[in-house]
This record gives sequence, C-alpha cells and structure tokens, in this order.
Amino acid sequence: MALIVQKFGGTSVGNIERIKKVADRIIETKKQGHDVIVVVSAMSGETDKLLNMAYQITDTPDGRELDMLLATGEQVSIALLAMALQAKGQDARSFTGQQVRIITDSAHTKARIREIDSERIFRELNQGKVVVVAGFQGIDENGEITTLGRGGSDTTGVAIAAAIGADICEIYTDVDGVYTTDPHIVPEARKLSRISYDEMLEMASLGAKVLQIRSVAFAKKYNVPIHVRSSFKKEEGTLVIQEDSSMEDIVVTGIAHTKNEVKITIKGIPDRPGIAAKLFEAIARDNINVDMIIQNTSDNGLADISFTISKEDGKKALKLTEEIGKELGATKVLFDPNIAKVSAIGVGMRNHVGVAAKVFQALAKEDINILMISTSEIRISCVVEAKYGEQAVRALHDAFDLANKKS
Ligand code: ASP
Ligand code: MG
Repeated sequence: MALIVQKFGGTSVGNIERIKKVADRIIETKKQGHDVIVVVSAMSGETDKLLNMAYQITDTPDGRELDMLLATGEQVSIALLAMALQAKGQDARSFTGQQVRIITDSAHTKARIREIDSERIFRELNQGKVVVVAGFQGIDENGEITTLGRGGSDTTGVAIAAAIGADICEIYTDVDGVYTTDPHIVPEARKLSRISYDEMLEMASLGAKVLQIRSVAFAKKYNVPIHVRSSFKKEEGTLVIQEDSSMEDIVVTGIAHTKNEVKITIKGIPDRPGIAAKLFEAIARDNINVDMIIQNTSDNGLADISFTISKEDGKKALKLTEEIGKELGATKVLFDPNIAKVSAIGVGMRNHVGVAAKVFQALAKEDINILMISTSEIRISCVVEAKYGEQAVRALHDAFDLANKKS
C-alpha cells in the first residue's frame, strides 16, 4: 500500500464528463489499496476568465483582491470532484488551501509555500476518505488568501507530497510525458521514461511547459519522485527523479527551445572596469532577469555588450539600456525580438567531451549562424535567428540520435 498524491490539471477537469472520469481513475487507485490525496487545478480557462474580468476593471488590480478572485477557480473544481467521488460511492472531502493550512509568504500572486499542516490530511485519510485539495492557493500568516503563480497547482501537489512523505506525486496532464523535444517540431521525438530533476529544471525553464518549474525545484529539494502522465491514457508517462549513474551514459537527454527572449545590444561603450557593472546593476534594480551575456572588445578601447531577457521585460530593459547608453556615450543601442534559443541538455555532458563541438557542427551543417552561446555543466544553449529555431531543434535532435536512443 502506498501514499499517493494525484494532481489533475485544468484540462483533466475541464468539464463535468472529465471530472467524472477523473473520479473513476481515483477510485481505481483507491481500490488497489492506496491512500490518495488529490490536488486539482481550476477547470481549464477559468483562471484566464477571472483574470480577464479583473483587467476589465483596472490595469493594476490589487494583489490581495486578485488572489481572492483567482482562488475561487479551484474551489469550484474541488467541490465538483468530491461530489463526483461521493456519487460513485467513494467517501471524499474537499479542502481549500486555508483548510489544510498551506502556509505561504505574503507575496500575492506569486507566493511561496512555507509549510503545510499534514495532520488534517492524515485525519481524513485515516477515515478512509479521499482528500481533495485545491491547488494554486494558500494563506499567509495573517490569514490572507494567496496564490502561487500560474501553473501553481503542480507545486501544491509536490509540496503536499513532501509534507506527508508520499511515495509519489503523479501529475496528470494533457500530454503523456516529457519528450526528447517538442513533438510539434520533431514528430519522431520520443517519450522519456525517466529524467533527472536537474535536466527537467533545464527543460522546464527553457520552454518545455509540462511542469511549473518551481514544483521541480521543490521536488528536488525534498526528493519527491514525480510521475508526469496523461489523464486520458493508461500507459506510464515520465518519471522525474533523482539522478543515478546510469543516466550519465546518455550524453544528451533532450533539446529545449524557446522564442520567449529578446536581445539587446549596446555598442561602442568604454572598455574599462565598472561599465558592465553599471549596466547590469540598473537592470537588476528593476527586477529584470538577464539570461545570456556576451561582450566583444575592439582595438580602439571600445566594447559591445549583447544580452538576452524575457520578452515581457524587453521594453523596460531597452529603455534602461538607452538611458545608460547616453551616460556612457554608446554609439548605438539595438533591439532584436527575432531570436530563438535552442539548448541541448543532459547530465551525461559532465563526463563526455566534444558535446559543444557536435552542437556547433550540427548547426553549421544547416548553415545556421549562431548569435550567442552559453553553457552550464549540463546544457549548451545557442541563440539563433528566430526563423531558424525549429530547424536548429531538428538538427540537434538528429545529431544526437534522440529518436532512437533508449533512456
Ligand atoms: N489555475 C491556475 C492556473 O491556471 C493554477 C494551475 O492551473 O496550476 O494557472
Ligand atoms: Mg498546469
């Protein structure tokens, strides 16, 4: 007998029929003798609908009121699911984040979980009930309702699994697992049976939108195994787990791709100490996250710096860079929204050589020019022109033979 958290996303509970199917699936697990805690998202589209209403009133809704509003989406789905379970003869009970004391900090709309009171959950489980908990929401220490950021129900699921010491957190979603790359771009992409937390963190942050990235970080910290799988199919999905030595045999596990960044270049600034510090301090002060940075220097004592940031920060960062550019006497500030970042990811890179060369060769063979490069211990990323992004993904997927290698 195991202790299992099952998290169902918005599409999985998108209508009444689906809610009933989810109830069947839960009952099946329960009948196998397991204890089940269920975490659900709002029905698909609901959170957007609520947000939309708020923005029809004001461009700058108050964070507390926004959370008050958004938390209602999940309150609907937990109640409906508990009813569906009861209607099928399974004792069940729904709980808001407040009722199971999911305590967060007070950062409205992007709160972080601090602790969860597992006692209430165990009390209900011990009575044979299925416990249905609202994802995405919590309360701060003043009792104010908070939410965890878009996609936050994944994090609720993992956090509950950690708090109660569950054997596994199953994330039921509309895809059937984590693939070697986006199957829309490469139809031969293969479903991975396993991926390490670190690889998943890279895949998630680089644009594989299967799991909220924070949930993976949480799972890693508390060593909670995650099983990403389809709510519509029976077969196993992908296990996201701690790295083991067999994973290192595979050099590249997956290729990630994002078009969500823009590039800013500041040209002709003085090549002396303190210049980069000045620019990036200003950007950091405005809470803008910089991803890649490259600097070129020339013989005449001048330098160019290019960097990438997420699209949503683009305008703000451009304005800041133009201001600083004036102060520094820059000759030009350029803005390029037409870029894509393509990354090869794999823990096996730690002990294999020549991986970067292979990446560059694969792109060269396609005549794709590399605009920027960055690497970490388990990742090589290249920025290319947006129109070559998908071609680059196919080239890398091919070069590392990901359609065929077994993991
Ligand atoms: N309902 C929330 C959202 O749409 C949380 C979630 O689905 O995980 O972002
Ligand atoms: Mg989701």
